[in-house]
Amino acid sequence: FAINMDQLVLEQELGRGNYGTVKKVLHRPTNVEMAMKEIRLELDSSKLNGILMELDILHRAISPYIVEFYGAFFVESCVYYCMEYMDGGSLASLCCFPNGNVSLPPSLSTSPGSAWTSSPAPLADEHLGRIASSMTHGLEFLKSELGVMHRDVKPTNVLVNLRGQVKLCDFGVSGQLEKSIAKTNVGCQSYMAPERIKGSSPSGSNMEDAFTSYTVSADVWSLGLSIVEIARGRYPYPPETYENVFAQLSAIVDGEAPGLPEDDEVTEEAEIEFHATGWSSTHKGKRRWSPEARDWVRQCLIKNADERATYKELLEHPWMQADRQREVNMTDIAAQASKLSPLHSVILSFVLALRAVYFF
Ligand code: ADP
Repeated sequence: FAINMDQLVLEQELGRGNYGTVKKVLHRPTNVEMAMKEIRLELDSSKLNGILMELDILHRAISPYIVEFYGAFFVESCVYYCMEYMDGGSLASLCCFPNGNVSLPPSLSTSPGSAWTSSPAPLADEHLGRIASSMTHGLEFLKSELGVMHRDVKPTNVLVNLRGQVKLCDFGVSGQLEKSIAKTNVGCQSYMAPERIKGSSPSGSNMEDAFTSYTVSADVWSLGLSIVEIARGRYPYPPETYENVFAQLSAIVDGEAPGLPEDDEVTEEAEIEFHATGWSSTHKGKRRWSPEARDWVRQCLIKNADERATYKELLEHPWMQADRQREVNMTDIAAQASKLSPLHSVILSFVLALRAVYFF
């Protein structure tokens, strides 16, 4: 069925991304709750049908690891994209505040003295393993069943629901849509693999690199980086700054690849946070990330794309084998994400607005 705006009842805003806002809506004819993303475009109307045709492939993206697509339509210069509503929100709300320099304001934080510093993700190894395996299955599905890369793997594009499912959204199936998006972001966190950064234009725009040169292993890099960010509770590279707009990109290309944090990097403050939120089975002195988890991440973050692990290798890795053999309760994680999502969204909008003015 084709969805249009008249069939939808707008409910609350779910979040705000770099390209537009996401709202919860009710589709009256079916009584299905959906998430509707509004993306502002800069294009002439002759391209609209081409974009809708390219988006049609999304109807075939049916997998337990991919957020279901219900349909898209245009109103004036915006495309409205309707998808499965994920009631836990994005995994980024659990851990990842912009540039990792911003966390809960002191009044909202449970951790004494943690004024605007990063807080760690309150996850155990088995939770991280389930997130990693779901993301890998999703990416492998896109490649093997639809023949597409994701191109934008990052924590905000990993959504959870209260049934404990972890799914990917926002993958780039439409080259025309990608080229037409009115990008409002200045200064953001890059999840691009080194080879993608090296291959893109010196103007700093990623447009030219879209749909050229790099291959699916670039998504493997972004997968590894997302897992590191979720585990660390912050984006692991330095922010772009006004003085050095390339600080982050040069660290990705020239620096050492990040990994899961060492156990001694789990600070006392972090321990207080774990106990205060009552989430993690982690105790002081107890190993947090397994050697298998560390190795899995290392295989994703090999700087030379040819040596990086494939999806098949990642899925056969001992960390993923262990994941298949254990029951993992993700529902608490999803419930926590859903509580933090509105707060995350407010902080993100605030930071994006500040960045637009001060470009930090
Ligand atoms: P970005 O541009 O950073 O990828 P999006 O615009 O895709 O962000 O989404 C912004 C926020 O909206 C997400 O971080 C998430 O909290 C929320 N969101 C997006 N899609 C959904 C969905 N299908 N269900 C529930 N919440 C969603």
